[in-house]
Amino acid sequence: MSSVRINLYDLTREELRVQFARWGFAGVHAETVWNRMYLQAADAFTPEAMPGVPAKVLDRLGADAALGVLPTALETDSSDGFTRKYLLALADGERIETVLMRFTGRVTACISSQVGCAMGCVFCATGQMGYTRHLTPGEIVAQAVHVARALRPRRISPLASGPSPLAHEDAVAPPRLRNVVLMGMGEPLHNYDAVMHAIDILRDSAGLALAAERITVSTVGVVPGILRLAQEKRPLHLAVSLHAATQEERAALVPAARKWPLAELMAACRTYSETTGRRIFYEWTLIAGRNDTPAHARAVGALLHGLPAQVNLIPLNPTSGYDGAPTRSDAAKRFQQILAAEFSLPSTVRQRRGLDIAAGCGQLAVGA
Ligand code: SAH
Ligand code: SF4
Repeated sequence: MSSVRINLYDLTREELRVQFARWGFAGVHAETVWNRMYLQAADAFTPEAMPGVPAKVLDRLGADAALGVLPTALETDSSDGFTRKYLLALADGERIETVLMRFTGRVTACISSQVGCAMGCVFCATGQMGYTRHLTPGEIVAQAVHVARALRPRRISPLASGPSPLAHEDAVAPPRLRNVVLMGMGEPLHNYDAVMHAIDILRDSAGLALAAERITVSTVGVVPGILRLAQEKRPLHLAVSLHAATQEERAALVPAARKWPLAELMAACRTYSETTGRRIFYEWTLIAGRNDTPAHARAVGALLHGLPAQVNLIPLNPTSGYDGAPTRSDAAKRFQQILAAEFSLPSTVRQRRGLDIAAGCGQLAVGA
């Protein structure tokens, strides 16, 4: 029965060693398997995929374990060649989306933490599809490995038909996965334990070895999760999706704000920054006329004043369930100028990428 098999992507390296010891195998075999899983992105328990692992170990893995590789149901490349979106199949038939982004010289995997999302933000395609279930740690880890595997030299292919802008660089030095953002489908702090367990696995120095400062968890503002992160002093980047600077305006866009009101959220953010010494990224989806006026910029400036903060402005991406319009670029620039000039607040405007394949922020969703 596959349901009782151990998914090796669920295990930290230490847990893998313990499991191998239970099976009566030496720790060195666990280390080799770990190396093949994460440095070679092995996709099967075969001698070809896992060289150096004895046959008796492979036999046992084949019988009692699973390598939770997620098969690709669909792969789409954006026309500019910078974004690739994977629709991945889970063992129970559910599906999730993972995005590989390559711009400004870096490769970033945008990975999902849930099938759907329970938070219901009005402008988000994932919110519009509702919540189905949490992902397991192994399903979260498998997405990052999927992207790492796609980047391996022998598998590399230009992202777009025709000459990829990065094909030459790839040939010289194949890119490695260095950045992971938990900004795909789902609310990561609603699935706290699985997400943190997965991050521990992704950070392992003998595996994908992702640096803590290159892992970003984005939350809609789950206050207990932010306080727990502060308490545990986890080394990672925190992004908080704000979108509005008053409780009333925020609750209209983000229903979760009714459960965790703005004042409580800001208190939690303050605690987080004070306890960890870390700056928080505040995300602001810019919607024309709704939250992109100079008055809105001054309201968020005043709200964040004195906090270690950077604002990430994301022009609204279209989704079928919301009729708001994206901000105009001059409004975005004016917003930025006000934050900088009047509040000394640094901000960036997120590059709009992958929209032709619905891989932009908030556009990830899978049909029923
Ligand atoms: N659930 C988490 C992370 C996933 S969403 C969160 O909400 O933070 C990642 C980012 O995309 C969030 O800042 C979210 O507000 C933003 N987003 C959602 N829908 C969007 C849309 N249609 N256009 C632009 N940004 C959107
Ligand atoms: Fe969920 Fe984030 Fe989308 Fe809101 S924006 S519905 S929290 S995925």
